[in-house]
Amino acid sequence: MIEKNCPNCGNPFHGRSNRTYCSQSCKSAINNFRVAERDKDANIATQKVKANRRILMTLYNLYGNMELPPMVIDKTKLDKTWSSRVNLKEKKQLFLDLCLTKLENGNYLIEKFKNE
Ligand SMILES: [Zn+2]
Repeated sequence: MIEKNCPNCGNPFHGRSNRTYCSQSCKSAINNFRVAERDKDANIATQKVKANRRILMTLYNLYGNMELPPMVIDKTKLDKTWSSRVNLKEKKQLFLDLCLTKLENGNYLIEKFKNE
């Protein structure tokens, strides 16, 4: 038994060397905080992908399956660092059900996948 200070509440406690927290509630509090932090990051990523999808949906509704010059994409606030999937080889990026492809000629194509 050694004396330590709980990293959550700061109170001193006696316990086995491998015990970190003074109580189950302090252990849970730290764990809940970590889970919330992790989910917060995931939620931010989800929001950014959804914002990108909205931008692409607007373009898709305007132009459909037309090839778009890069200028059209660049004028939007599309942030290509946030997508739900990337295929570098085929230069495709997925934003949920919308796929953005960079074509050989430099133009872009937006495709919509049908809901199953
Ligand atoms: Zn504690």
